[in-house]
Amino acid sequence: MEICQACEEFEKRVKKWNYTHGAVDPLPYIDDMIKPHKHLIFEGRRIDGAGAFLISFQCLKCDQWWRLSAWSAVGYLDVWPLFMQHPSSP
Ligand SMILES: [Zn+2]
Repeated sequence: MEICQACEEFEKRVKKWNYTHGAVDPLPYIDDMIKPHKHLIFEGRRIDGAGAFLISFQCLKCDQWWRLSAWSAVGYLDVWPLFMQHPSSP
């Protein structure tokens, strides 16, 4: 599956954050990373056992799902594509 240009840039933006910011809490920056991507919609958020925020998004343009993780304590962000088998329709 091909991801769209906006998704590609979104992924780059997130990865780059780790280089341009040091060990600071990434949570306040997440909005800025999402906003330039006009087709990304928020799908859910939870906190895992290790204290990381796991945030899911779906791109309405290319239908790619993304999982963003943010570790406030160490100041680290990561993002990777999720491959969903058709989430149950409402
Ligand atoms: Zn996309």
